[in-house]
Amino acid sequence: MGVLECASGASAWRGYEYYQGKKVRTISEISEHVFLAQVAGSAKEPYRVELHVDHPRKSKCSCPRANGKRVICKHLVAAYFAAYPKAAEAFYAEAMACQQEEEQREEALADQLCAYVAHMKKAELEQALLQLLFDGPEWQYDRFIRENGLEDR
Ligand SMILES: [Zn+2]
Repeated sequence: MGVLECASGASAWRGYEYYQGKKVRTISEISEHVFLAQVAGSAKEPYRVELHVDHPRKSKCSCPRANGKRVICKHLVAAYFAAYPKAAEAFYAEAMACQQEEEQREEALADQLCAYVAHMKKAELEQALLQLLFDGPEWQYDRFIRENGLEDR
């Protein structure tokens, strides 16, 4: 498995942000596909990162989350992107494509909902509205009462 596949989604994304934010202070390839880096984090001193690209689980970072745990943290991901900027571009492009896909799915669903409601009969609409008002959150109920001036009656 690659570095990104071993990292959680949150670590991958935060790692990308760290890379973009130039948190990787130094990086050098100490042997083939093995990198030593210093990555700034929340501690005063930068964390020491040893990235093994071919064997991600051998990687080390001195941060509290990864230290001694074989976890791929955001510092390791940031170092990976610094070593392979093309991988960072691909990661970002994929993330944007996923987001766009998700937005399109949501839009399509909203369109479907609108079309469905437009074809509901009055009795069905009444039932659906009352159900939403009685079963939905209290603020929704209160707002409907308020906006339709029902509390004064
Ligand atoms: Zn770390």
